[in-house]
Amino acid sequence: MSYYNELSNLGITIKKTNGQFKTICPKCSNDRRNKKERCLSVDVDKGLYNCHHCGWAGSASKFSTRIDYALPHRESTGINERVLKWFDARGISESTLLHWKIGESLEYMPQVNKKRRVINFNYYRDNQLVNVKYRDSQKNFKMVSGAELIFYGLDNIKKLDIVYIVEGEIDALSLHEAGLYSVCSVPNGASKGNQKLEYVYARAIYFTLCYKFTNAKVVEIAKTLNMNHATILHSLKTFPYMLKHSSKLNTDYFLIKELANVNKKNKKIDVDKLVNMYNTLLIKFDVLEAMYNKLDAKNKK
Ligand SMILES: [Zn+2]
Repeated sequence: MSYYNELSNLGITIKKTNGQFKTICPKCSNDRRNKKERCLSVDVDKGLYNCHHCGWAGSASKFSTRIDYALPHRESTGINERVLKWFDARGISESTLLHWKIGESLEYMPQVNKKRRVINFNYYRDNQLVNVKYRDSQKNFKMVSGAELIFYGLDNIKKLDIVYIVEGEIDALSLHEAGLYSVCSVPNGASKGNQKLEYVYARAIYFTLCYKFTNAKVVEIAKTLNMNHATILHSLKTFPYMLKHSSKLNTDYFLIKELANVNKKNKKIDVDKLVNMYNTLLIKFDVLEAMYNKLDAKNKK
């Protein structure tokens, strides 16, 4: 048995699909002087991981779903002028589209019972295409039947301090456009009704994590999403029942909790780095001042 996917979902860099090996730790390596030290022992067959430096350890088997998923038949990553324009109107540039490997194709869309030109949002794990969300111009969606639901942008969130989780592909692209590169999106369902439930789940996870892991009061949590505090209370109360009811929510919850754990780090201030940044700023200031003086002199003439 191999827990390659489950371990990879936790941000662990994996070189082999079976056996045991040592690799860098997604939780502490980035903060260490020796970033390349392989402090994390991994057993892919058993799904176990253990860091000898920070103590991050666990078993990936608890959120394993063990299903043989279907894979997309085709990978489309080319975009035409029309798609470019469509995204341009939404403030998303070509370089962002290329980075996210956006594609377009002709697909049968069950909602309208005909073939349509659709945008392809490709879902990758370790550069491997796992799923695709197709979207037509009327906001009809479809995903690859029987394929695994993973985060959109999973490969962007490894080894980074802060991860932004949004509720849709376009939101993810917009954040990327704004310079926030460690962004991913929950996959959501392919149909509209399904999506509603997924939003409820996503919010319930968010409330529960805020409530359990931050010192925020319910009223403060409510404010962050502009919601009533009674809604939050209700969600917190019903969350354990939701977990029992949906195995997918259970999986998502554990996955997100682990990801939050990976990215929860003590911020250490490196004095050398600070001095370096300060000096860079001083130089920039000097350059700006020189430019200003030149302009000023010109104006006085
Ligand atoms: Zn570690």
